[in-house]
Amino acid sequence: MKRPIIAGNWKMNNTNAGTKALLTELAPLVKDAKCEVVVCVPFTDIDTARKAIRGTKIKLGAQNVHWAPKGAFTGEISAEMLKELKVEYVIIGHSERRQYFGETDASVNARLKAAVGAGLKAIVCVGETLEEREAGKTNEVVTRQINGAFEGLEKIALKSIVVAYEPVWAIGTGKTATAEDANDTIAVIRKAIRKLYGRTAAGAMRIQYGGSMNPKNASELMAMPEIDGGLIGGASLKAEDFAKVVNY
Ligand code: PEP
Repeated sequence: MKRPIIAGNWKMNNTNAGTKALLTELAPLVKDAKCEVVVCVPFTDIDTARKAIRGTKIKLGAQNVHWAPKGAFTGEISAEMLKELKVEYVIIGHSERRQYFGETDASVNARLKAAVGAGLKAIVCVGETLEEREAGKTNEVVTRQINGAFEGLEKIALKSIVVAYEPVWAIGTGKTATAEDANDTIAVIRKAIRKLYGRTAAGAMRIQYGGSMNPKNASELMAMPEIDGGLIGGASLKAEDFAKVVNY
């Protein structure tokens, strides 16, 4: 049995004081969680978060990582820097990075290789825009993104990777894919992984749904056979809401 994984993506929210307060409130609410619980915090909150989650069920994640080990990349953070701060997970290729910061399938691939090479676990995001969905290109887009992200990656690396299917039109909009649609597209993603690495590896891969997941829709989404977890934006910023999703 795969252990479901629910991760919060805080995006550019919470100062250090807010981080401490939110995690202190969250920890007791998720102490009996059956799934793996992760919070992906801004770089500047990592050290505070690490201290606040000590001895709890909550694991530490970041929201991006650079592909180079070091060098002239102003404003970027390396995998080794994250490892030093005891970060376990890192989100790669979030649609906001693709949309606002020029992230491509190739840069996602390079960041993913750097992350797993350094011993981090990665949450790789894929998903179609509204335009792509309306043009009937969802399956083609997620398959291309998976092929691009995993290009040249050894099968062994899959143990350190979680995929998040996040339809871009559902992120932060309050619109959720229906549980059936999310399930169907995740099946397409799994098929793409199967073509690259075989049935067993694809079956073992945890694939999350993300996009306006909240306490009201979490249990329906999590009941779908292909959905192995959630990547949660807005609802991860309130301890009570995030805990309800975690305890779906
Ligand atoms: C996200 O940013 O990954 C996300 C799913 O956001 P939201 O839950 O707010 O739609």
